[in-house]
Amino acid sequence: MSRNGPRLLHGAPIAAEIRGQVKDDVAAFKRRYGFAPTLAIVMVGRDAPSAVYLQQILRSCRNVGISGRLVEIPGRVSAAALRSRIAQLNDDPLVAGIIVQMPLPRRIPLSAVTDTLDPAKDIDGIHPLNAGRLELGHEGFVPTTAQAAVQLLKSSGISLEGRRAVVVGRSNVVGKPAAILLLRENTTVTVCHSRTRDLAAETRRAEVLVVAVGKPGLITGSMLKRRAVVIDVGINVVGDRIVGDVDFETAKDVVSAITPVPGGVGPVTNALLLTHLMRAAAAQAQTADTPRRGLRQARP
Ligand code: NDP
Repeated sequence: MSRNGPRLLHGAPIAAEIRGQVKDDVAAFKRRYGFAPTLAIVMVGRDAPSAVYLQQILRSCRNVGISGRLVEIPGRVSAAALRSRIAQLNDDPLVAGIIVQMPLPRRIPLSAVTDTLDPAKDIDGIHPLNAGRLELGHEGFVPTTAQAAVQLLKSSGISLEGRRAVVVGRSNVVGKPAAILLLRENTTVTVCHSRTRDLAAETRRAEVLVVAVGKPGLITGSMLKRRAVVIDVGINVVGDRIVGDVDFETAKDVVSAITPVPGGVGPVTNALLLTHLMRAAAAQAQTADTPRRGLRQARP
């Protein structure tokens, strides 16, 4: 923390660097295989905030040369019909990656999506196989928001090894995978949730705090350790503003560094999603190519 306030951990420069690399990867992929990989974004029903988020992803795809395909499915769809639509995308050789916008309509169990997605195309890491790989430290797709939270810390040069990290939130898409990734960085991790008895006592011990809850202003300055580094993943619409889960006004006088909301984790999340798509595309293209190449080599 300087006299002018804490260091702001902006996501935009980190995201721009990642996108630059992806752009080169897309160009190389097109030269080699003659087509651009496709990201399929499945939207079930109409939800205004997620529509804005999806448009941002589609724009990011366009900017780097990835083909973005919005698959709009009526909100009254049955679980069986949704499964069969996802299965079609699994079988589409042009589609390298699939994301399904959450939340789903209440009638549809999450498992209708998580269990149907081809793990090789599950670029946001929601399939149980990818979740298990993360847990075991094997190669797979990690949920991008959790990865973005940790990437922001690393790219900003924040030292992690041996430090006390606290994650508030334990969802399968953000809190839990963020805790696993922080463990991988050799921090000592505590995970808090809605039943944590004394949240402030836990957060006050955090040298690195990641908050992913979805409650505006849940964490105030008095709940923070002096000179802590704070990653605010929360996105909350309050009136006509978007705010995080951390009360910035009271936090800024205590912490040494904090992400702005919007403009912190969000841009990095989008950029990382594109890197996952390219990893998926390269793996699928190689698999498809191997028998053909084998055949060519076998010919006299
Ligand atoms: P969920 O609703 O799935 O999970 C919220 C978590 O917060 C749960 O584990 C819940 O605990 C915990 N929680 C709720 N109330 C409290 C409380 N009072 N004290 C402590 N913990 C509490 O949300 P997500 O993980 O999907 O998303 C979290 C936030 O991150 C949201 O604001 C979302 O919009 C944002 N987000 C941001 C993204 C980005 O790119 N920046 C992308 C994805 C999400 P319990 O398990 O006990 O119920």
